[in-house]
Amino acid sequence: MFDKILIANRGEIACRVIETCNRLGVRTVAVHSDIDATARHVEMADEAVSLGGRTPAESYLRADAIIAAAQATGAEAIHPGYGFLSENPDFVEDVDAAGLVFIGPSADAIRAMGLKDAAKALMAEAGVPVVPGYHGAQQNDLAQEAAQIGYPVLIKAVAGGGGKGMRRVDQSKDFEDALDAAKSEALKSFGNDIVLIEKYVSKPRHIEVQIFGDGQDAVHLFERDCSLQRRHQKVIEEAPAPGMTSEMRKAMGDAAVRAAKAVNYSGAGTVEFIVDASEGLQPDKFWFMEMNTRLQVEHPVTEAITGIDLVEWQLRVASGEALPAKQEDLKISGHAFEARVYAEDVPAGFLPATGTLQHLRFPKDARSDTGVCASDTISPYYDPMIAKLTVHSTTRNAALRKLDRALSDTQIAGTVTNIAFLKALARHDGFAAGDVDTGLIERDLDTLVAPNAPCSKTQAIAAVAAHAPTSAPLSGFSLWAPLQQRVLLLWGGQEIQVDVATHSQGVFDVTCGTARYAVVHDNGTWRVDDTKVNAEAVRYNAGVSVFWGNAYHFEVPDPLARGSDAAYSGDLTLAPMPGLVKAVFVKQGMRVVEGERLAILEAMKMEHVLCAGRDGVVADVNVAEGAQISAGDAMIVLEPEV
Ligand code: ADP
Ligand code: ADP
Ligand code: MG
Repeated sequence: MFDKILIANRGEIACRVIETCNRLGVRTVAVHSDIDATARHVEMADEAVSLGGRTPAESYLRADAIIAAAQATGAEAIHPGYGFLSENPDFVEDVDAAGLVFIGPSADAIRAMGLKDAAKALMAEAGVPVVPGYHGAQQNDLAQEAAQIGYPVLIKAVAGGGGKGMRRVDQSKDFEDALDAAKSEALKSFGNDIVLIEKYVSKPRHIEVQIFGDGQDAVHLFERDCSLQRRHQKVIEEAPAPGMTSEMRKAMGDAAVRAAKAVNYSGAGTVEFIVDASEGLQPDKFWFMEMNTRLQVEHPVTEAITGIDLVEWQLRVASGEALPAKQEDLKISGHAFEARVYAEDVPAGFLPATGTLQHLRFPKDARSDTGVCASDTISPYYDPMIAKLTVHSTTRNAALRKLDRALSDTQIAGTVTNIAFLKALARHDGFAAGDVDTGLIERDLDTLVAPNAPCSKTQAIAAVAAHAPTSAPLSGFSLWAPLQQRVLLLWGGQEIQVDVATHSQGVFDVTCGTARYAVVHDNGTWRVDDTKVNAEAVRYNAGVSVFWGNAYHFEVPDPLARGSDAAYSGDLTLAPMPGLVKAVFVKQGMRVVEGERLAILEAMKMEHVLCAGRDGVVADVNVAEGAQISAGDAMIVLEPEV
């Protein structure tokens, strides 16, 4: 085993690797950007080396600086995590040349699987079923190929990943436009605009097999179902796959092991298959899509059902040991789910969010993989994932109930999150029945993203928390607090007025609309009309969050600043995050209507359309196309309403 390794990554995966190293007595070196100087992975590691910079290109993608850091600290090996340099064969060669060990497959194996078209050809040769389609070099008459395959088809960038450069086409008249879009996206994202065309599988399920090799032999650690996706990105994953038969499991496991052996695979890898579930799971209805030559984000569900620590296996095999187990030793126990918790504004169209985590609490009865601590900031520079929650139980139903509970018990304030969306999914009837496919989320999107409005009791608790910060003594008489106060709360841009009157013994008489409650907050316990409720409230500078089944975030505008602060009445369009102004559609003096697009901001690899909050006339345009702006910058100002 190694004495010391360097982890060339950040966030939850760097922390997760360090945990296993600690358990095995392996010392750890972290690397970090300027933004991450005090990040959790840096705090957890035994040593840390600064790479400087902010963007990935200035930090975590600097192969030379990372190798130099390993040499300077005496690390023997480099764990790449996922993303960043993990699937870069040139980096692997540089690591080897520096006399260090890359904890992962060989450069050749990565290269063989790196492009989807070449990988498909190789797999077909190795006897692994591949999706019918065209993956040739000739790119001139792709429409002809598509017609031959038969619509619907899927255009995919050969160098693609994360659903980028991918377009579904249903009829021939739409083909050329879709091809242009896929190619330009692919060129922009991957510097390569070669595409392949595949038959679009009807009722597709994404089922992938975890494999592990030692360069000679390989085993599989069963399957994961990752069919719950939004825009080809995984949202909730589970293991094993619902409805899996032993016959199908064996067929897929064998195919995945054949794929691994075809490239003398070493380390952890995933063979992704697309399954046609239109007539249930059938052993002849699965096809190879691609192989991910790294540890996957969703590996914890496999660890939960097998009891194996995959990072421990990675370290053991990379340090020269043979495979730690034989196929017949591996067994599935129970069922596991993983949910990816992101800082994102779901009702606003899954807009990535930023913010400082004012409060952070993870559930007791789940595994939480995270790279952040309370008071850390979710910055726009990296993936806005806050945590992965993994639950395990004896049956699928029990595990799903545990997931629901774990999501309810996760408390995050200071940024919006996708937790309510994940909970709506955990309660979705089709998902509960195991009837999943990659179109499930899109079909039911409207109901899944509907925001949960706070009930009047929740508003009452929020108002009391806003009125008397929980950190201050609540009972007794204080000279400066008025006996009766109107508290203004903003929820989802909507104003809520609540009247709070203070009584003796810390009882608040609260009026919201037509409802009236006696609210008591004592030692962390909330009582409404003499009934104890399982709610918690967290007050921070700009707002208050109430956790009561769901999370309700209220802004509490400073009453003194009101009037001068136009942001709440729709006069201002503020930059929701730092980014690049891609387009501005309005000029001073123009009349706009509510919902009309004003500008496009490019941030976190995505384009965000900013719309007018109300009807009005443009008073000022403070930004120009091409400008780099900060979060909170006033971009466009409307004339005050008369
Ligand atoms: P999966 O199939 O497990 O969803 P993806 O290929 O979508 O994996 O990417 C895995 C993860 O790697 C992403 O969720 C993201 O956190 C990270 N990642 C992907 N690309 C990059 C990159 N260029 N830089 C940093 N992180 C990345
Ligand atoms: P990425 O590199 O983004 O992971 P993949 O090739 O793995 O790209 O595909 C991502 C997702 O796209 C799959 O999980 C599935 O939802 C969908 N998909 C891919 N190929 C097909 C296909 N032939 N038919 C239907 N859906 C597909
Ligand atoms: Mg994939």
